Amino acid sequence: MEHDYQLIFEKLFNQYGPQNWWPADSPFEMMIGAILVQNTNWRNADKALRNLGNLLEPEIMFHMSETELAERIRSSGFYRLKAKRIKAFMEWFNSYHFCVENIKKRDKDTLRNELLQINGIGRETADVMLVYAFEKPVFVVDAYARRIFYRLGYDMPATYDAFRQQVEEHFPSDVQLYNEFHALLDEHAKNICRKKPLCSKCPLKDVCAQRF
Ligand code: SF4
Repeated sequence: MEHDYQLIFEKLFNQYGPQNWWPADSPFEMMIGAILVQNTNWRNADKALRNLGNLLEPEIMFHMSETELAERIRSSGFYRLKAKRIKAFMEWFNSYHFCVENIKKRDKDTLRNELLQINGIGRETADVMLVYAFEKPVFVVDAYARRIFYRLGYDMPATYDAFRQQVEEHFPSDVQLYNEFHALLDEHAKNICRKKPLCSKCPLKDVCAQRF
């Protein structure tokens, strides 16, 4: 089946409209949220963010002990591990003097490689940071994207990077479009293309192989 990512994007955008992601007040909050949401849902991650309250500042988080941080982010699950990851991330962020604008000046691949070297930052977490904090045009591969494309009948590569590159080769290199695309796929997987899909209500049904 011919892959048409732009068509999928347009149909989802027409259905759901702009998503205005990431749900955060600043790039820093976004990045911490991206670590907190690993292996849990957004509700639990958001609760942990709220619990950090006005401690959610780079200087404060950098100096906070790992034990205290772990206690404050308990609601996100795996909280000791996540505290360790956030501390490792803060070391890296400190190397840029906590300046997002400086980081944005780095090119996409250099930045991805740096992020992937931080303990606990995997490809998906690195890529959401690249799109939503550093404004780089990257396609984020997650379980929802895999599910939807599989059902559409698209034979996508199994590995993360090959999947990502396949979409990127056929999609405009525009960060705003990638920002929306990931959010729209997420919305679609939660609302219509669920585990048990609601195909009769789906905006993609004309172009979907409904492969289950
Ligand atoms: S038609 Fe069904 S399987 Fe295909 S994308 Fe829509 S909900 Fe998912």
